[in-house]
Amino acid sequence: MGEYDVLVIGSGSAACSAALRAAKGGLRVLVIEKSEWLGGTSAMSGAGVWIPANHVAAEAGIADSREDALAYLRAVAPEGWEQKEDALWGAFAKAAPDMLHFLSVNTPLDFRLINEPDPFAEAPGGKLYGRMLSPRPLSRRLLGKFARSLRRSTLPHSFTYQEIVDLDLYHHPIRAGIRQPSP
Ligand SMILES: Cc1cc2nc3c(=O)[nH]c(=O)nc-3n(C[C@H](O)[C@H](O)[C@H](O)COP(=O)(O)OP(=O)(O)OC[C@H]3O[C@@H](n4cnc5c(N)ncnc54)[C@H](O)[C@@H]3O)c2cc1C
Repeated sequence: MGEYDVLVIGSGSAACSAALRAAKGGLRVLVIEKSEWLGGTSAMSGAGVWIPANHVAAEAGIADSREDALAYLRAVAPEGWEQKEDALWGAFAKAAPDMLHFLSVNTPLDFRLINEPDPFAEAPGGKLYGRMLSPRPLSRRLLGKFARSLRRSTLPHSFTYQEIVDLDLYHHPIRAGIRQPSP
């Protein structure tokens, strides 16, 4: 088995991001997965991510901040949640932009902004655009020997969150099927 500095349990996006971060930091990492398939629920998802104050929006000239993100989370959370969850919201607002940047630099993932507003864009700290992203589709062949073990999506696997939103898949399934998503 060898010796490792870090043992990562599971192979979903949280586990794999943590494993990559540790490995890039020079630690020896072992990822273990209980299922015969890799990727967990993450592999079945549309991969849409809500990341405020992200570098993709900043490069597009969209103003946002970690402070606005935290103000938004506090404003829209159900009453009574703040007491238990505020530390988590603060940690998310602080770390999520760096996480997205780290993954963009260190993996083939190419995150693009999705034309989707915050669900309560009118709330304090809310934004109409710039926080919702989706990676462009990738070939599973990139996984090499692990490609056959990747868990299949429950969605038609060609559809990422970006394609679903841009093509308006659920309202116009046939038109979406013959159109290409915007680059
Ligand atoms: C169809 C669908 C679409 C979705 N679309 C989106 C979306 O667009 N945007 C979004 O934000 N969310 C979406 N979600 C939700 C999102 O996929 C999950 O919240 C997310 O993937 C959870 O990631 P994770 O890394 O925490 O866990 P998972 O991806 O579930 O990974 C956990 C892994 O750990 C393994 N494991 C568990 N216990 C052990 C153990 N004891 N030993 C070893 N391995 C273990 C599991 O087998 C699994 O592989 C969607 C979900 C579904 C089902």
